[in-house]
Amino acid sequence: MQKDQLFTRRRMLLAGTAALGAAGTAGIVLAGGGEPARTAAPVAGPQARQQLKSSAFRLQPLTGYGPPRAAPRKPKVRHEPILRISGRGRQMMLTFDDGPNPAYTPHILDTLAKYDVRAMFFVCGECVVDNRELLARMADEGHVVGNHTWTHPLLTSLNRKEIRSEMERTSDVIEDSYGERPQWFRAPYGAWNRAAFQIGSDLGMEPMAWTVDTTDWETPGTGTIIERVEDGAAPGVVVLSHDAGGDRSQSVKAIREYLPHLLDSGYHLTVPPRRLT
Ligand code: ZN
Repeated sequence: MQKDQLFTRRRMLLAGTAALGAAGTAGIVLAGGGEPARTAAPVAGPQARQQLKSSAFRLQPLTGYGPPRAAPRKPKVRHEPILRISGRGRQMMLTFDDGPNPAYTPHILDTLAKYDVRAMFFVCGECVVDNRELLARMADEGHVVGNHTWTHPLLTSLNRKEIRSEMERTSDVIEDSYGERPQWFRAPYGAWNRAAFQIGSDLGMEPMAWTVDTTDWETPGTGTIIERVEDGAAPGVVVLSHDAGGDRSQSVKAIREYLPHLLDSGYHLTVPPRRLT
């Protein structure tokens, strides 16, 4: 009951945001903060509104623009990553970083399959090379794979050439294993800089961050991870979890609990369209 009231309050705060989103399709919203209450203000101005409209538009499947082009579409260079999704109703997105890992990723995929839910996986190239079959499974089951660099470095400590190598090799191995080049990337540790935004755009990718961090990498206990997801649940929220990089058994157990709870609360777990061109 209390939680429902909370949801209602959040929905009211977000009403303006939701109205700007693309009907029935996940869109993207640039926002300055992680909390819905703080993101309500920046989207109110006409300039922000225009930004949102064009962002949402660019996520729509384009028709009537002739045959698909072979060259990757280069998104505009952003100055901050995307933090939220937009769309009608209670849409949320689950994302899993640092994998794939044969000990944990298959269990997360099993749970997603059980509830017929799609998620995003931001993978590291060096993990993909030994687990290509997991990327093939993600493709088969409709999940969206993003680029999380090859070795998970702090990009802000690298030069441009090194950043490009980290990102380009990863896009190559994703294409080989998943069947498509990634259209999204996420900087390790959420540490972005101008070079990362520019190179990401060069490689045809949009920068995607998150709204709610489960901090599952701290192994705070399965119950705490569940609580963080359920307390952070709101329309447009992007949830960050991990399927590799340490003992992720808590993350595996947590999704078995929070996923059915989110669905029971009326949330639609979504992913961006796999092809933007
Ligand atoms: Zn990471």
